[in-house]
Amino acid sequence: MLTLQDSRRNITIKNHGSKKGCYVTTFQAPLGIYRGYHRGIYLDPSAEVRADALDIIRAQGIRWGAYGDPAALPLDVIKAWTPEGARWTGYSHQWRTAPEGFSDYLMASADSLDDAIEAHSRGWRTFRVDDEANPLDGEISCPASDEAGKLTDCRTCGLCNGSSGSSGRINRQVTPTKWKRPQNGVVLYEGPSAIDGSPIVAIVTGFKDPSKNDKTGTMLQVWILRADVEPHEAQKTGADSAVCGDCPMRPLLIKQLTN
Ligand code: SF4
Repeated sequence: MLTLQDSRRNITIKNHGSKKGCYVTTFQAPLGIYRGYHRGIYLDPSAEVRADALDIIRAQGIRWGAYGDPAALPLDVIKAWTPEGARWTGYSHQWRTAPEGFSDYLMASADSLDDAIEAHSRGWRTFRVDDEANPLDGEISCPASDEAGKLTDCRTCGLCNGSSGSSGRINRQVTPTKWKRPQNGVVLYEGPSAIDGSPIVAIVTGFKDPSKNDKTGTMLQVWILRADVEPHEAQKTGADSAVCGDCPMRPLLIKQLTN
């Protein structure tokens, strides 16, 4: 039986689109957010905005990487915007190269048994695609997955919170502050990618219009984008490596493999 209090478990999910490549349609939400950013519709995090935003993150939870790999950001950004008491989720394909500390917050995205075993040996918890539905000891099926019967959503579950996430997700009732601002998002970071130095931006959305994603629930969503290339163009040209690193689900890599 799933014990939500046990945040030490590793997670499997059956055939999570691994053959098809990245499931994010970059010409939809990421493109809208990119263009909104360049129109200046998102708030800069003044002290007042930041305090309000952190209250809401504490109540709603935060999903690191609705698009983009959080290891493209400085670790301090993740720490600063994951307040004590918040539930969060996050995943990284950069688990072989990310500096120490990221495994406290993120799950290693493992694409095979061997990946999972290697990531464990490096101190990461894992989220693994399992075509065989053949879990390792210590793994459970994601309870939001079809094969587990869609028992819950990430906001309620919160198991995918790296190796430091043992607190803050159990029976915690936090009442959200009312967000009085017209904007839906806050810019968390503008600067070089920690992966390749290209300009990137991270924006958290969902303050006014909560996410309608059934799987995550109403968690705030972090979008990590190239700051200077529209996201669907970045995917086509390979400029998305700044935010996705060596993720094997990048469309350009899938195309190269299948040609
Ligand atoms: S429901 Fe979300 S947080 Fe829980 S195991 Fe599945 S992906 Fe991770």
